[in-house]
Formats: sequence, structure tokens, C-alpha cells
Amino acid sequence: MAGSGSGTPCASCKLLRRRCTSECVFAPYFPAEEAQRFAMVHRVFGASNVSKMLLDVPPPQRPDAVSSLVYEANARMRDPVYGCVAAISFLQQQVSQLQMQLALANAETAALQLQLQQQHQDQDEHHQQQCILENAAAHHQLMLQEAFLKKESMWT
Ligand SMILES: [Zn+2]
Repeated sequence: MAGSGSGTPCASCKLLRRRCTSECVFAPYFPAEEAQRFAMVHRVFGASNVSKMLLDVPPPQRPDAVSSLVYEANARMRDPVYGCVAAISFLQQQVSQLQMQLALANAETAALQLQLQQQHQDQDEHHQQQCILENAAAHHQLMLQEAFLKKESMWT
């Protein structure tokens, strides 16, 4: 791993002026090139706490633990009062606002669908009435034609 055993101390050992051994818990996650990352985590949590936290976590999960510590340290530096809770509550607020908007949009969609259904029904009724009227008119015309023909035949 970067830094371990290879002469170049990791960011942590460099900052704390220690010898970086192959057992260094920081070396895989805080290479010398990323000094700022460790400096921030050290300032917020303290190197010995970070080391304890990392040792409590199974090695496959340590990279995730490190990125969450870095994220939290970063947020704490920017917002000393709320830290990453500020981001979390902002996002939670956004989620509930969006849920409300979604509920409103769903209600509106349902109302429009109902309106559309009613319009279709009205149209169907209107269409049926028109058919009846048209049939009646056609029937009437037929009767007239028949009467006219009868009349004509009477004259011829
Ligand atoms: Zn080290």
C-alpha cells in the first residue's frame, strides 16, 4: 500500500512526525500526496480517535469509513454548528417538499382524468342524441320522399 514500508511516510505519520510502519492503519487511506485530507480529519476528530474508529471497522469497510470521516470533517469545518446535519436536514426538507408537490400533482392528475372521463361521457350522450335526431330526420325525409312518389304516381 502507498507509503507503508516504502520510506515515504503517509500523510498522518508525516504530520505527526512518526515513523510509518507497514502496520500503519492510516497509510492505505491517507497517502502523503493527500496531506490536506488527513489534516482536516485530524483537526476535527483527532488522530488517535480516527485510528480507534478505523480499527473497530473490518478492513473491507475501512475505505468507506474513511470517506465518511473526511466528508463529516469537511462539513464540520464549513459549518461548525451543524456539520453534515445541515446538509442532511436541507435534503430532508427538500424531500418532504417534493413529496408534497408530487401529492398535489397526483391529485391534479386524478381530477383532470375525472374531468376528461366526464367530457367523454357527455360527448357520447351528445353523439347518441345526435344519432337519434339524424335518424328521425332521415326517417322523416324518407316518409316525405315516399309521399312525394305516391303523389307523383297519382298524377302519372
Ligand atoms: Zn503512516
